[in-house]
Amino acid sequence: MHAAAPPLDKLSRPLRDLRISVTDRCNFRCPYCMPREVFGPGHPFLPRAAILSYEEIARLARIFVRLGVVKIRLTGGEPLLRRDLDTLITRLAAIKGIRDLSLTTNGSLLDPAKARALKTAGLGRVTVSLDALDQPTFTAMSNSGLPVARVLDAITAAADAGLAPVKVNMVVRRGMNEADIVPLAGRFRHTGVIIRFIEYMDVGQSNGWRLDDVVPASSILMRLESHWSLEPVPPRHPGEVAQVWRYRDGAGEIGIIASVTQPFCGGCNRARLSSDGKLFTCLFATAGLDLRALLRAGADDGAITAAIHGGWTRRVDRYSELRVHATGKRAKIEMSYIGG
Ligand code: SAM
Ligand code: SF4
Ligand code: SF4
Repeated sequence: MHAAAPPLDKLSRPLRDLRISVTDRCNFRCPYCMPREVFGPGHPFLPRAAILSYEEIARLARIFVRLGVVKIRLTGGEPLLRRDLDTLITRLAAIKGIRDLSLTTNGSLLDPAKARALKTAGLGRVTVSLDALDQPTFTAMSNSGLPVARVLDAITAAADAGLAPVKVNMVVRRGMNEADIVPLAGRFRHTGVIIRFIEYMDVGQSNGWRLDDVVPASSILMRLESHWSLEPVPPRHPGEVAQVWRYRDGAGEIGIIASVTQPFCGGCNRARLSSDGKLFTCLFATAGLDLRALLRAGADDGAITAAIHGGWTRRVDRYSELRVHATGKRAKIEMSYIGG
């Protein structure tokens, strides 16, 4: 069967990038993502049978790649909670056409042996989330009992295993961790690790987001520039979400993701597959297309391709550009479910 023509959505954006959430569970309770009051012991996480098997994920990934996807990122919840994740990576790495295969993790389970196993399986690189160097602030931001040193060790393990360039994601939240912006940047200068500062977003329903909690990209940059001289690096590819800056002294690069104050929906070529097989065409979507139902009803690749193609060509999402008018009025999906 021939693949359908590469789809463009209603705003002429191609489908290039797929984020696959492999679990909705996590061992952290970052208040901006899975506040413990909401994601407590009684929380109805997805039952095992609802979650796509590795075979199902790999089959969908092959179809997405035929439709034009070239980048795949595994995420969650915490993806390393899923058993034998390296076997999924082996299956994905075998798909011709994927140029970038990566993983986002909180680092808690990424020891040197795991990092080497992921690399051997074919993973290209990892992004590790780390919101503070200071232990009390890290504890507050992650609501976990983990020593921050473990996350730093995970970053080193990833770099040593060649999962590079390693990126570090820092979500900046006013009143919580602005004081860690400069120390974190300083920690990774001259290491080849690229730190990316992310504006706190209004994803989901449960984090109680307020615009006042957002530290704008402009203030993040001002803090950094008061210590170091930076120059902008032009975007390297379409759909790049981070504004990249380079230290003029050659110490490396940083990124700033200004999804709230400078939205980038115009170039957004990203789809998300939840762990139970729903396709979402926006991080702020309220409903997804049920690909698991198709898979489990015995649909052939042609029917699944047509469903994805149809879903993408109907896409009009540009939530972040409309946010000021839309916030609070929609039943948005949680980040831990849809995949960050
Ligand atoms: N558990 C993994 C981790 O934390 O890296 C992967 C999933 S997590 C949902 C993916 C990314 O989303 C993390 O870097 C996290 O900091 C970010 N994130 C979660 N909630 C966010 C929010 N409300 N605003 C901005 N970024 C957020
Ligand atoms: Fe877990 Fe990642 Fe969400 Fe934190 S950001 S609660 S580590 S899924
Ligand atoms: Fe893409 Fe939706 Fe984010 Fe805009 S708001 S950049 S369309 S995911």
